[in-house]
Amino acid sequence: TDELCPVGVIAEVGHKITRPGGPTHIILQGVARGIVKGFDQRAPYTLATIERWDDPQVETLEARAVMSHVLEQVEAYVAMLPNVPEEVVTMVRSVDEPGWLADLIAFSPEFQPEKRQEALEILEPVQRLRHISVIMQERLEYLSLRHQIQSEAQAGMDKQQREYLLREQMRTIQRELGDIAGEEALVDEFREKIEAAGMPEDVKTKALLQVSRLEHQHPFSPEIGVIRTYLEWLTDLPWSTETEDQLDLKDAARILDEDHYGLTKVKERILEFIAVRKLAGNRMKSPIICFVGPPGVGKTSLGKSIARSMGRSYVRMSLGGVRDEAEIRGHRRTYIGAFPGQIIQMMKKAGTMNPVFLLDEVDKMSMDFRGDPSAALLEVLDPEQNNTFQDHYLDVEYDLSNVMFICTANVLHTIPQALRDRMEVLQLAGYTEQEKIEIAKRFLVAKAIEGSGLTDKNIVFTDDAVQTVIQRYTREAGVRNLEREISSICRKVARKVVVEGTATFETITPEKVTEYLGVPRYRPSMAEEQNEVGVATGLAWTEVGGEILVTECTLMPGRGRLMLTGKLGDVMQESAQAAMSFVRTRAEEFGIQKDFNRKYDVHVHIPEGAIPKDGPSAGITLATALISALARVPARRDEAFQLVEAVGPVLLLGAQGDAGLFE
Ligand code: ADP
Repeated sequence: TDELCPVGVIAEVGHKITRPGGPTHIILQGVARGIVKGFDQRAPYTLATIERWDDPQVETLEARAVMSHVLEQVEAYVAMLPNVPEEVVTMVRSVDEPGWLADLIAFSPEFQPEKRQEALEILEPVQRLRHISVIMQERLEYLSLRHQIQSEAQAGMDKQQREYLLREQMRTIQRELGDIAGEEALVDEFREKIEAAGMPEDVKTKALLQVSRLEHQHPFSPEIGVIRTYLEWLTDLPWSTETEDQLDLKDAARILDEDHYGLTKVKERILEFIAVRKLAGNRMKSPIICFVGPPGVGKTSLGKSIARSMGRSYVRMSLGGVRDEAEIRGHRRTYIGAFPGQIIQMMKKAGTMNPVFLLDEVDKMSMDFRGDPSAALLEVLDPEQNNTFQDHYLDVEYDLSNVMFICTANVLHTIPQALRDRMEVLQLAGYTEQEKIEIAKRFLVAKAIEGSGLTDKNIVFTDDAVQTVIQRYTREAGVRNLEREISSICRKVARKVVVEGTATFETITPEKVTEYLGVPRYRPSMAEEQNEVGVATGLAWTEVGGEILVTECTLMPGRGRLMLTGKLGDVMQESAQAAMSFVRTRAEEFGIQKDFNRKYDVHVHIPEGAIPKDGPSAGITLATALISALARVPARRDEAFQLVEAVGPVLLLGAQGDAGLFE
């Protein structure tokens, strides 16, 4: 009996469930407290006398205060426990008896059996509720402590790792936001540019398609760069911008004269072009002018001048050494790092659809396994085709038909025939000495003075000085070296000005020229001083102008052997043989011993420099030298021979010094 509690619960047996072969379950329902008053029987089972306890009604202020406190506790408690149904709070609130409230709370699974027993044994309801309240308080404190520990543990999670994760997330967000904002702006910008560019419909469609492709790319896709570059090319190209041609003949003539001395024929042709353009307007297909002539005669600078006289923009593309079709037409976009070809690049640079487009050195183009650039160039220059020019990179048609193409070349014969047929060739012969002096005085000297930072208060060139530079320091058809030498003198004077002060003034005389440029490089005349036996003068035409070829023929006792020295090409060798045969067949006419070939060996030497000499026209000079040697009659030194095949006048450089002699 000591082990039994003094207060218990009087219960009714509700159900009794007996399973065959199993235990019997009894469900009891509590009715009221029962207080043990004494034990009446111990065996075979204990019997006690109990007194039923029913809570008295309590409606004191204290009871209400404790109840409302406990209700608050319950609410706080439930809030801290997960998975407690809302109804629990509702049910607890509906209770209006302190004792009943205490019992109800004690029934909750949170209460251990001992705690329940404690509550059972406190008979006075308000006290019981107070007791419950204390236990509740303990539980609450325990729970909030657990919470605290939990969140502290969470806070204790590796700080660095958390920061790392956070930062990563932040960066992703920023990147996405940032990039998306940038990309959107870009896409809009492209759309605007496309609208503004005035592209043909199909190009526009294509461009817009690319814009929407760009829009749908993942922000980190490598494709973005490719599409962007492509769109930049498309939108930067001129599609509708044109300069209005300035077609005033007087102005044009003035501008052409301002830039170049002489060149009357070329200038006239340009003015004719402008005149026709004025009358026919755009109906006229631009002819393709090709300036052919030695270096430094002003081919390139003429192109620029034409652009200026017509008020067009100007671009220049050098074809020297171009051997790959892709340089003209570009690479397909599938290539990594692909770009448009030079034509499209230059059109972008020009910024207008009708520039003057100089194709420099068309004769220096070569071809190899990578494709023939001249075929591509043909398409560029063909007025029937060039309104739909296809660049591999661009992949849309581009209209080149309003471009004025001008080609330059040193020689015609290396230009493919098909290309040559498209062009209108304008020969620029070299300049005579007199013309060079004029060009130097009017243009080159002023340019050089300005270029080296001097003024005409520092330096003046005498005519003699210019002539000395031309005769002694240059040998060329054009004026490029002349320009260089004059600049070189100016730089030397500029140095002096820096050292001695801006008041320095120098008159450039022939002596000064020698002082500044050193020992003269060329003798004034290459023609022999006197008529001589066995010496004849030939003329050779080269890319840079022309040469005098003094041909010497010497006879030695022997048996008709022919020796040739002086860097002679195959054709020249044959020419020498032909000359020999010619002289033998006509020996009598020339008063030459018939059997000279049995008595003499012939040595032909063409000493001039180490220039490779070739070409059929030397035959006549060789024959003359040979006849002179055999007949012992001097050949005239002031007559020279050249078989002329070239179109137009050819200036021969050898004529320098004996001005006009061999022109
Ligand atoms: P090319 O293209 O024929 O090799 P450039 O056009 O480069 O020659 O000319 C070389 C230089 O000579 C340029 O500075 C050019 O202005 C000048 N020049 C050539 N011919 C003349 C000329 N008739 N009048 C004025 N300057 C000239």
